[in-house]
Amino acid sequence: MVFEGITGQQHVTRTLQNAIRLNRVAHGYLFTGPRGIGKTTAARILAKSLNCQNYKDDNPCGICVNCVEITEGRSIDVLEIDGASNRGIDEIRDLREAVKYHPATGKYRIYIIDEVHMLTHQAFNALLKTLEEPPPHVIFIMATTDPQKIPLTILSRTQRFDFKRLTTEDIVTYLGSILTREGLSYDGNTLELIAAKADGSMRDSLSLLDQVIAYCENNIEESIVKDVLGIIEDSLYHELLTAICNSNYNALLIKISEIVDSGYSIPNFITGFNAFLRKCLFVLTDQTDKVRLNKTVITWLLENDQIVSRLDLLRMIDIILKFESRLRYIQQPRVALEALLLKLAAMDSSVLISELLANQGKSVKQQPVRKNKSAAGTSQNTPTADAPPSIAKPLHVEKQKADHISEPEPEPLNRPKETSDPLNLEFISAKWPAVLEKIELINYKIAHFLQGSELLHFTGGQLDIQLNNENGFTVRSLEKDKSAIEEIFREVTGTSVRIKFRSNPLQTNQGAAKPVEPERDHPLLLDVIEKFNGEIIR
Ligand SMILES: [Zn+2]
Repeated sequence: MVFEGITGQQHVTRTLQNAIRLNRVAHGYLFTGPRGIGKTTAARILAKSLNCQNYKDDNPCGICVNCVEITEGRSIDVLEIDGASNRGIDEIRDLREAVKYHPATGKYRIYIIDEVHMLTHQAFNALLKTLEEPPPHVIFIMATTDPQKIPLTILSRTQRFDFKRLTTEDIVTYLGSILTREGLSYDGNTLELIAAKADGSMRDSLSLLDQVIAYCENNIEESIVKDVLGIIEDSLYHELLTAICNSNYNALLIKISEIVDSGYSIPNFITGFNAFLRKCLFVLTDQTDKVRLNKTVITWLLENDQIVSRLDLLRMIDIILKFESRLRYIQQPRVALEALLLKLAAMDSSVLISELLANQGKSVKQQPVRKNKSAAGTSQNTPTADAPPSIAKPLHVEKQKADHISEPEPEPLNRPKETSDPLNLEFISAKWPAVLEKIELINYKIAHFLQGSELLHFTGGQLDIQLNNENGFTVRSLEKDKSAIEEIFREVTGTSVRIKFRSNPLQTNQGAAKPVEPERDHPLLLDVIEKFNGEIIR
């Protein structure tokens, strides 16, 4: 094996070859990247290159004693330590003694430490001592999938090379070259299936290819490969997604039967479905070129973005991921699967809370305008937000908007009749349950936050509300949606108030400094809660 034999990592191999040629070899190397993409192979080739007796053309000869011994794993100058096996305690302890001695036959003593992030704290310390003052004949080559777990003191003493996840093309080309060498016939599609299944890992691709060869013998056919790898086609997932989006329960149950009866494993199916949804999400975020997805599905997604949005996909993925993590504890996976997909089908399509609240005050007539966005081509009479202005309609729309802004009330149809009751706390308290009910219909979370709050007083048009639930997130959420709450209040009662939330002064003033559960206020967490319209349960 030579440097050029490592697929997809030229940025690493060229740099290493240059360093050797220019005699600028470092004492510590760190190879990082996902599993199965050539880190250990590169480490061994580097070791051979450094100790080869006939190094030429920027590559080890592969046939001298040193090369052969390294290939066979019996070189006493090149030691491989697996950080994962016993966390390296003994080896690293021995290492500190052993590095003092000169190499036996090669130029260097080379330590290849795989999964170096698994080393214990003591092992890292021992390693650091050697790395701080490495004897000139000692070289460390470390490999890891988790560079963030490696102490900075070690990182700063190594040259780091980030190996890239392999692209499907890289893998397909490499597998193709193997099959050609073996004289086996194949088509590109089957190799893509293998590459996709291995998710960028060359090692996994090779072992899958072995399975396929063992099964197919001389001719590698797509249908057999799908069978062997248990791959479910995108078209099938697409049918499921369509049934979910159309809430077609009947079709869903029939599809599930087909899938389960044809022998696909449920975990395999679930993983595949989530991978499919992820690809759909990429398409809806203009990243179509990043994923391999059937053209029919792509067109369908782009044409139906009002029945399946990015937010819908995110919610589905979220629900399926939760299901996946519970799957192995489930006694009746088939029933659970059916329930899961029916639940997805029963899910309302997602609407951004902000959009929904913003639409609350608008007239009913404007609602369908948004909905029909992509149906514009078929129904020409419907004015759409981004259609070119037709003759009379836009004026009307413009006027509606203007009215809405400047005049107090252009009176939507569903507007409750103006009440003659005097506005006081008693009146507001009487109407409050109805306001809460309306809020609950629109945004359960906000209604939940308002639950148990107390109407304190009402003076000068201002309604003071004492909150019951007053963690930082609750207060911020309510403040953010305050104008929407006021709007709903106006719709229900026919009168307007300004709302002021009061929370326990002790908690709000010192809340920030309070050490209790600081992670609840973490911006990322708040963002997640916002996106999924969730709440903290515990
Ligand atoms: Zn050699």
